[in-house]
Amino acid sequence: MKFDVLTVFPEYFDVLHESLLGKALSQGILSVDVVNIRDYSKDKHKKTDDAPYGGGAGMVMTVDPIVSAVEAVDPNHDALRIYMSPKGRTLCQSKVESLAKKDRILLLCGDYEGVDERALTLCIDEEISIGDYVLTGGELPALVLINAVARYVDGVLGSEESTSEESFADGLLEYPHYTRPEEYRGLKVPDVLLKGDHNEINRWRLQKSVETTMQRRPDLLAAKDIAPFMPKKKRKHRS
Ligand code: SAM
Repeated sequence: MKFDVLTVFPEYFDVLHESLLGKALSQGILSVDVVNIRDYSKDKHKKTDDAPYGGGAGMVMTVDPIVSAVEAVDPNHDALRIYMSPKGRTLCQSKVESLAKKDRILLLCGDYEGVDERALTLCIDEEISIGDYVLTGGELPALVLINAVARYVDGVLGSEESTSEESFADGLLEYPHYTRPEEYRGLKVPDVLLKGDHNEINRWRLQKSVETTMQRRPDLLAAKDIAPFMPKKKRKHRS
């Protein structure tokens, strides 16, 4: 899978060379080309922003360097072109999974007050937000999206790691994890995890998932039939 990232701050993406993603990049399972929008500026000082028409605070990224960069990187519009934007649809796990099915994704990172609307009209397929808050630039949101999507690309996660049992995978938050020691400061690992009965363990984990989701994210449960996971009520016997 290939990502093209358009930014005026390419150094942000050095972090991609760490950890599992770094390994996937070096193995060629994943490719991330980071393009400096400044390289496409025709201004002699490589300027890529200007004051907003109509006045107001901050600077706006100019249209031509962005359009020129997008057209140079993706001349046939093969990539799904996404603008990272707080005004976009909020990224969620099902969207992550559908993005992971694409061969190529281009991410445009805005900075300052954002980008000239005409660059979006001319070049962008969709806008994606990573949450209802405003960051200084689209670089961290792009890194979040790349990281979340790359985990679904075959070969990126080790065989011992899986996306299938994680939080959100089936609309539930994940069950709690424990590792050695068996007891720490009086807190014991639940007995069920020590006995080796995998049916029991699966039942316990599912129950914990439902409980955690109910406590922390009841909104996720609203769309799910949770009756099978609920503790059975004792029937009243007629006397
Ligand atoms: N003036 C814009 C507004 O009020 O919607 C915010 C601009 S923000 C300071 C600069 C850039 O950061 C945006 O153009 C966008 O690319 C990126 N950005 C900020 N918050 C974001 C978020 N929650 N999700 C995705 N991108 C974001």
